[in-house]
Amino acid sequence: MEIKFDSVTKNYGPISAIKDLSFTVSQGDFVFITGPSGSGKSTIIKLILNQIKPTSGHILVNGKIPKTEKEIDDNRRKIGVIFQDFQMITDLTIEENIALNLDIVNFPQDQIPLAIDTAIKKMKLQNRRFLFPGQLSGGELQRACLARAIAISPQLILADEPTGNLDPVNAWNLVKYLKYENEKRGTTIIMTTHHLDILKSLDKKVIRLTKEN
Ligand code: ADP
Repeated sequence: MEIKFDSVTKNYGPISAIKDLSFTVSQGDFVFITGPSGSGKSTIIKLILNQIKPTSGHILVNGKIPKTEKEIDDNRRKIGVIFQDFQMITDLTIEENIALNLDIVNFPQDQIPLAIDTAIKKMKLQNRRFLFPGQLSGGELQRACLARAIAISPQLILADEPTGNLDPVNAWNLVKYLKYENEKRGTTIIMTTHHLDILKSLDKKVIRLTKEN
């Protein structure tokens, strides 16, 4: 999936979150977005997800500005998302969380059981699938989030500070898995991070934001 920001500005009332930002993430790219707290990283993620609209400028998905609800929904269904705070529904099991997300993206009903099994096996969560999020460790929870994201066979994975709550070993495992998805499946990856060691260890494109953006 290709994402292009064309002179995008986003203000929240009087607060400027990003200003006149242009970049292109091509199909199959692995791109880091970095910058200090408050520089607009989460705003970019929300703009890509169409949760908020730019104040000015355009966001093109595969060369096109999505206009209708259907176009926006179709794009959204191709995006897997993982967050620093996991955003799992606490009173559903890991398996039910994955199933719910598949349902939300209108995944073909008859393919849901296999999609869940495959994602759970890939993330080595076979003996955690019937547990609730509160029963998992941080590293397991982030693997569960990744299982939820990859189950939909995404064309793009958006990862918003995904290593923020992980110890270095789990953080590194997560990044290695994202790299694998990118290289083996051609999934486009956009990851926000302020972990400079992760940025330095992978030779990938980096979008650097400053507070003045
Ligand atoms: P980052 O993810 O890099 O920490 P954010 O995108 O969350 O940055 O925020 C960028 C700027 O926009 C910050 O100054 C922040 O306070 C402001 N901001 C973010 N969300 C809102 C909001 N809903 N209302 C007002 N200001 C916001």
